[in-house]
Amino acid sequence: MVDAVDNRSPAATALPPFPKLPVSIAVSECLAGGNVRYDGGHRSGAWPAAALAGIVQCQPICPEVGIGMGVPRAPIQLVGDPAAPRARGVADAAVDVTTALQAYVASQTALLDAVDGYVFKARSPSCGVHDVPVRRGDEGQQEATGRGIFAAAVMRGRPNLPVEEGERLFDTAVREHFLMRVLIHAHWRNGVAGDFTPARLIAFHSGCKYLVMAHSVSAYQRLGRMLADLSGDVPAIAARYFSCLMKTLAQPATRGGHANALTHLAGHLKRRLPIAQRGEIAVSIERYRLGDAPLSEPMGLLVRCLRESDAGDAVGQYYLLAYG
Ligand code: SF4
Repeated sequence: MVDAVDNRSPAATALPPFPKLPVSIAVSECLAGGNVRYDGGHRSGAWPAAALAGIVQCQPICPEVGIGMGVPRAPIQLVGDPAAPRARGVADAAVDVTTALQAYVASQTALLDAVDGYVFKARSPSCGVHDVPVRRGDEGQQEATGRGIFAAAVMRGRPNLPVEEGERLFDTAVREHFLMRVLIHAHWRNGVAGDFTPARLIAFHSGCKYLVMAHSVSAYQRLGRMLADLSGDVPAIAARYFSCLMKTLAQPATRGGHANALTHLAGHLKRRLPIAQRGEIAVSIERYRLGDAPLSEPMGLLVRCLRESDAGDAVGQYYLLAYG
């Protein structure tokens, strides 16, 4: 098992610094303020743009405009099998843009290769990720829900890319969870991908220790085992490792998981801090665990104490850098 990374160790210096903000993400263009909706409007109020200012840099994409549907345009809707719906015209069902929307992903390869997340517009037959209405009956009534055609194609082609719907990001916990995954994706893309040396992989994994522990203790052990033998095809091992890591991080950590990781991190202060101050941290972690404080409270306290105590090895943990 790899131990916590030390920022001053040779392993840590194998990686560039943790990403600086802002980080590039793709965004449905109507959320970014583009007047690209079927009615000529935008939906810039449908995501917390102010809360994300300075944190993300938006790369707008409108697939419906991209395939030449124009503005304004006749609206489309999802119809048919919810597992494989078609995007057809609302007024004229003979219009079917499914294949064009799927193919449009390939034309955006350069942009999608250069971003670390994607925020989609909710409920859109092209961009929605969850619960987009799918109509089936003769009367066109909604019978099920599915995923927008373009969003589904992006997610199929890039299963490790963090995605979220704009409206869900108004929830602080959802936003923190999404941004954490964006930062980890950026760090991997900038620091490990393309140069898969064993030292880089080990350094990356060491930095992930408490982050993964917050989400799943068994996953950290499983990921460590994946890197136990790096004498073979390192790029293939790295690809499997990153896929497993992003799947693990896609599941939100519970309060208990965060409290466990924070408590283990606080252990780095054992011989560095008076007992009263350590008690203050323990109380703050417990307040968070019981739902009486936000995650930022014990995390902020812990970061301050670790820095003041010169516990450099723990301060470099991605858990604190990505959630802190
Ligand atoms: S939801 Fe997607 S397709 Fe619709 S206007 Fe916004 S960016 Fe364009």
